[in-house]
Amino acid sequence: MAKYIFVTGGVTSSLGKGIIAASLAKLLQARGLKVTIQKFDPYINVDPGTLNPYEHGECFVTEDGAETDLDLGHYERFLNIFTSQSNNVTTGRVYQTVINKEREGAYLGKTVQVVPHITDEIKRRMLLLGQGKGFDIVITEIGGTVGDIESLPFIEAVRQLQWELPEEDSVVVHLTLIPYLKAAKELKTKPTQHSVRMLSQEGVHPDVIVCRTEEALSPEIRRKVALFCNVKQEAVIEAADAPTIYEVPLAMMREKLDLICLKKMNITQYNEPELSKWKEFLDKLKYPKSKVTIGLIGKYIELQDAYKSILESFVHAGAMNECKVQIVNVHSEFITDDNVAEKLGTLDGLLVAPGFGMRGVEGKIIAVKYARENKLPFFGICLGMQMAAIEFARNVLGIAQAHSTEMNPNTPDPVIDLMEEQKQITSKGGTMRLGSYPCQIKEGTLARTIYGAELISERHRHRWEFNNKYLEQYEAAGMVASGKNPESGLVEIIELPNHPFFIGVQYHPELKSTVENPQPIFVHFVKAAREYADRKNATKNPLLQSEMI
Ligand code: GLN
Repeated sequence: MAKYIFVTGGVTSSLGKGIIAASLAKLLQARGLKVTIQKFDPYINVDPGTLNPYEHGECFVTEDGAETDLDLGHYERFLNIFTSQSNNVTTGRVYQTVINKEREGAYLGKTVQVVPHITDEIKRRMLLLGQGKGFDIVITEIGGTVGDIESLPFIEAVRQLQWELPEEDSVVVHLTLIPYLKAAKELKTKPTQHSVRMLSQEGVHPDVIVCRTEEALSPEIRRKVALFCNVKQEAVIEAADAPTIYEVPLAMMREKLDLICLKKMNITQYNEPELSKWKEFLDKLKYPKSKVTIGLIGKYIELQDAYKSILESFVHAGAMNECKVQIVNVHSEFITDDNVAEKLGTLDGLLVAPGFGMRGVEGKIIAVKYARENKLPFFGICLGMQMAAIEFARNVLGIAQAHSTEMNPNTPDPVIDLMEEQKQITSKGGTMRLGSYPCQIKEGTLARTIYGAELISERHRHRWEFNNKYLEQYEAAGMVASGKNPESGLVEIIELPNHPFFIGVQYHPELKSTVENPQPIFVHFVKAAREYADRKNATKNPLLQSEMI
């Protein structure tokens, strides 16, 4: 049986509960314990797959095809493990299970209620990962903020588990904010006191309080929080703003968050934390030797979280190349033939992002054309790959009306078309081609160099595909389908050999990049961008150019 750590949040949302939970998990893992981490979200959507990225940020997809909260991405990137459907539970999913059981007659004769039926189902799911899977510790992050109506059943489930489990088998970590009032030049503990009181009113007493703060906590402040919130002073943890999320595990280690939890759980068998790879990564991240500017072309660029995994993959790939990757967000809706050179002229690489629907599509196609013609390194992901296929059809193959039937159902030339198995599907939730599928890579291609393997597996989230009826025409004109699904023949990777770096993938490589295993396409793309920047600088500087010759 595993032991359980619950992470709750108070005062406000967006304090970085996911990062704190993932950092704690990282430290415990680095000490030799087998750890997993799960997220409980209090919204009624069965999963976040039906949410617009503006609502909730990126939808992360697991190996087994679950559409999940983006915090699972952090868990995987930090821990270098795979998560699954069971690592993300929403109120919607809990209710769906209980209501289905009610219809089957499982509660026959009983009134089905929030307590005990909903809370029992929450508890069952909270304990699930800890049973028979060999984990020493399961960390459960409770989404939302304490005091919200919708998170009450989750907090009640934690209360019951705190009571039901042996004392040393559960820990509650509460994350709060200690605001700094500039005018008074003071840190204020009152919101934290209120939030802990609220949690206590709901019956849960925290063992550890992690305080987000812009300023260092003095011993007096720590004492005050400890006294008024009824925790040991050593259990008041400072979580100051960090320059990168990847610093947080080390900051938490300095604050002994892991040791305090281990002590509460009465775990005495653990090692010194093995974080050498992590520290090596951080060093490279902090002291880059070069810099590139990559344009991210998308339609949700106002919201950082919408492309979370892509941005983090660039952090990993940048560190691997000892190169700082500066991302410039370019709104695809505003790109036109007239302004494309001005908007993209200073870039060293172009990434066309995944997406859905019509908005911003023509701008993406114009951007791809610019990258293809100007030999600017290009990387298209999912919709980005589809845009590259459409651009090539229109401007190289001369198929003027080529399009995807997603945007133009009546196009005479559907070079991107709805997958056969998608044609009968009408319901939206969890019905895309989701999760991990194999891809076979052709010898002698860029993709093969990048992966160094013939058979790979990557995660998917799409309904449309490259239309193989046009493949011969594409290949005759020089575009190569370098990766295909070995069973269905579905095109997974396209590339242009007469270009320094031009690759589009139907899958989402960003979902598998971790600190310890940066995703290889991102690594090679950053390298290609650096080489492009070097060439650009050499032509700008004739002295350097002559030296190079
Ligand atoms: N809208 C496209 C499709 O469903 C691309 C999806 C994506 O970019 N994730 O095929």
